[in-house]
Amino acid sequence: MSGLFFNETLYPGVEVKYACDDILFQDRSEHQDLVLFTNPVFGKVLMLDGITQVTTADEFIYHEMMAHVPILAHGAAREVLIVGGGDCGMAEEALKHKGVERLTQVEIDDAVVDFSKAHFADFNASVFADDRFDLVIADGARYVAETDRRFDVVMVDSTDPMGPGAVLFTQEFYRGVHHCLKPGGVLVTQNGVPFLQKSELVTSIRHFSQIYKDASAYVAAIPTYFGGHMALGWASDDTLLRRVPLEVLEQRFEEAAIDTRYYLPDVHAAAFALPRFIRDAVEEGRKAG
Ligand code: SAM
Repeated sequence: MSGLFFNETLYPGVEVKYACDDILFQDRSEHQDLVLFTNPVFGKVLMLDGITQVTTADEFIYHEMMAHVPILAHGAAREVLIVGGGDCGMAEEALKHKGVERLTQVEIDDAVVDFSKAHFADFNASVFADDRFDLVIADGARYVAETDRRFDVVMVDSTDPMGPGAVLFTQEFYRGVHHCLKPGGVLVTQNGVPFLQKSELVTSIRHFSQIYKDASAYVAAIPTYFGGHMALGWASDDTLLRRVPLEVLEQRFEEAAIDTRYYLPDVHAAAFALPRFIRDAVEEGRKAG
C-alpha cells in the first residue's frame, strides 16, 4: 500500500477514508472534479467532487435495486429514462429487460461517460453495444422540462444535492418528470442515507407529495454509501405499484430471466418495509407536502 488515502467528506463530523493502491485517472471536467482509484476492498472507486459515486465491488446492489424494482413493479416498461447515471451501471441493469424498447440516458457530463466506458467495461460494456441505448448529453432538469417524449419509468441516478446535481432535487424537476411520465409510470430517485441525510429524504417526499398521488421510499444497504440504509425515493400516480403482490413479482422475475446478485422478488417487496425512523421521515415529508 502506497500510504495514499482519499477522504470522503460528505457529512459534517464524519470522514470516510479510502486507501488508494493506484490512481487510474484524475481530471477536472467542465462540471466536476473526477478521480478514479483502486482500493483493496472496493475495487475501482469513482469520486466526483470528493464524493464516492460507484465502486466495482458493490455497484450491483444500488444499480439492481434502482432498476429492477420500478421496472418489475411496472410490469410493461418499454420507454425508460435515466437522468445522470454517467457510469452506465444503471443502464446495464435496465437493458437486461428485453421488454425495454428504448433506454434514454440524459447525463450532463460527457467526461464521466467517456472515462467510465474506458474504465468500467467490466459492468457497462454491453450498454455501448446495445442499439436501444440512446445517450443525450444535457442537463436532466432541462431535458424533462422540454422533451415531448413520454416514459414508463424514470430513474434519477444523480450526484448528491450540490453542484450540478442540486437541480435534480427540486420541485420543478420532479414536476418536469411528472409531465413526461406516461399514465401508470413511476419515478425512482437516489435519496441519500437517512441516518445522515434525513433532510434530503424529507424534502424530496414533500415535493413528491405535492405532485404525485403516491410519495414514498424503499431501502437498500449499500456499503459504499456509508451510514446504513440508503433511501430510494418512489413517486407515482398509481398507488398500487409499490404493493404489487409477491406472486406477481415472482412471475415477472422468472419471465424476465435476468441474473441478479441482490435483487429478488421477496427482497423487492421487503424493501418497502421501512425502519421506524425512515418511515417517520417519509411521514414528515408527506405532512409538509
Ligand atoms: N450512484 C451515485 C451516487 O448515489 O452517489 C451516483 C452516480 S452517477 C456517476 C451521478 C451522475 O449524475 C454523474 O455522472 C453526474 O455527472 C450526473 N449529473 C449530475 N447533475 C446532473 C444533471 N443536472 N443532469 C444530468 N446528469 C447529472
